[in-house]
Order: sequence, then structure tokens, then C-alpha cells
Amino acid sequence: MFMHEKVKCESCQGFLSRDDALFDEQSEVFFCDDGCFEDWADDHFEAIMQQYKRVHVDAG
Ligand SMILES: [Zn+2]
Repeated sequence: MFMHEKVKCESCQGFLSRDDALFDEQSEVFFCDDGCFEDWADDHFEAIMQQYKRVHVDAG
């Protein structure tokens, strides 16, 4: 891992240092902070719900 690698926030499209970014292991995208994640999550509610269901909700 490069110390000063720049990554792009999936929510606001801003660039920031990899070390300062949040990483979403499921979607493999980066975010500046909780606020950017929450904005993104609002727009991807359906996908997140499906993922949650797959992991946490068992049939029968
Ligand atoms: Zn951002």
C-alpha cells in the first residue's frame, strides 16, 4: 500500500488520501467520512437492503 495513494470518494467524487478514507469492503468503494457514506447509502438503499437480507435474514 502506497502511503500517499489518492482515492476517490464514491459519494462526493472528491479525492482524498487512502489513509483518511473509509473503505466499504462489500462494494469496494471509498468514502470521505460517515456523512458521505450516509449520502451514498440513501441513494443505494435497495442494494444495501438486499445485501443485508442475504447476510442476516434466513428463510424458514
Ligand atoms: Zn466524500
